[in-house]
Amino acid sequence: MSTQQHAWLDQASNDPDLMQDFLSICGFGGRLAGTGEDEQALDWALGRLQGLGLEPQRLDIPYDGWSCRKASLELMAPGSAANQLSCHALLRSMSTPDTGLEAEVIDLGQGREADFERLGQAVPGKIVLVRHEYPFSPDHVHRRRKYDLAVDHGASGFLIANPYPGGGLMSGSSGRPVNGRGIPAAYIDHASGQALADALKSGPATVRLTIIGQEAPSASARIGILDIPGGSVDTIVISAHIDGHPLGASALDNATGVAVALAAARALRGRISRDTHSLRICLFSAEEWALAGSRCYLDQMSDAEKSRLKLNLNLDTVAGDDTLTALTSGFPALDAYVREAAASAGLHIGTHLPLMPNSDHANFARSGIPALRLLAGFGKPDSRVRHILSGDDLPGIVKESELRQALKAVCAMADFALHLPSDALAALAAR
Ligand SMILES: [Zn+2]
Repeated sequence: MSTQQHAWLDQASNDPDLMQDFLSICGFGGRLAGTGEDEQALDWALGRLQGLGLEPQRLDIPYDGWSCRKASLELMAPGSAANQLSCHALLRSMSTPDTGLEAEVIDLGQGREADFERLGQAVPGKIVLVRHEYPFSPDHVHRRRKYDLAVDHGASGFLIANPYPGGGLMSGSSGRPVNGRGIPAAYIDHASGQALADALKSGPATVRLTIIGQEAPSASARIGILDIPGGSVDTIVISAHIDGHPLGASALDNATGVAVALAAARALRGRISRDTHSLRICLFSAEEWALAGSRCYLDQMSDAEKSRLKLNLNLDTVAGDDTLTALTSGFPALDAYVREAAASAGLHIGTHLPLMPNSDHANFARSGIPALRLLAGFGKPDSRVRHILSGDDLPGIVKESELRQALKAVCAMADFALHLPSDALAALAAR
């Protein structure tokens, strides 16, 4: 690699506005789609991109909105007052009757397939209790899989507890479509999970779960697109979702990705010429709603335009640990590409080949476009990345050095692809 290459990347990663941009995005709040915080943050971010002298495009994307009117959980104690526990409804949870759902709880431990095989006979009619798992490990079982197992086994409700001692409430989607089957479902904090497990030690335990949700059938979420044209129509897409969760500031997930995407656009602007491919920046929303924003964006695109998108670099939770991994979505050729690009920047970026449909890259991959998610803390359940989805996802848990490393990584990967010959770029799609 040339000294020149290093000098350019060093300058890129020293972007003077990176930290302030990150803090500004966090300043809009958790940015849950539908609250308005997401659109305010997007307008601000598009204003930052306008500084490059190009006009970004705004698109309104319909999605299945929903809001929670009431969520409560009580542990019923015969002969005394009920014990109030703490809960947060999963997005798009089924509602209970107004007076709540009263049922026995069954503790399924982690709530994996094996747990349901062992105890499944006893599940019908009960509210199952399972534990959240760190989502970025090769062998984790996702919340939605556990929820589906509970539904399949005839559970009447679903509670998923924060597994970390002292851990608070968390937020996430149930994945239930409009008019789809489902059961009332909520996150509970670590102490509430403990209280239920303790109560079950001395016999059956009954809870009253109340969740009142409301559909928002005409909801739309705004996304922003900026094109920086090069000499070829082949396009590299850098994406990051701006929406988040209501409990913290959605700092890790995903102010980190948006701040790095904005800085990468500034750094790469001057690298794009008639000798390079084109660059597109996509700021998505409604990602936390089963990836609705990017799915709809790609669905409405013509096949001709889609065929010009040659690579997606999706930035989601790119700080919170000092290790970076590219989730390469089942595209084996991306492995060597990532290694070579990382080496040109003097960085190490790990790779994980199986498709992990946990962010917007999955929709690109499903459209046949080579796609990766850049992620911090893969396989490190004790890293600060564990705070995603919780009230502790705040700017103070992110280190500046991690953001700068992620910026350098994405600049190196994008620049490498922008300069690849067209046939080598197309070869990344080989399966
Ligand atoms: Zn995310």
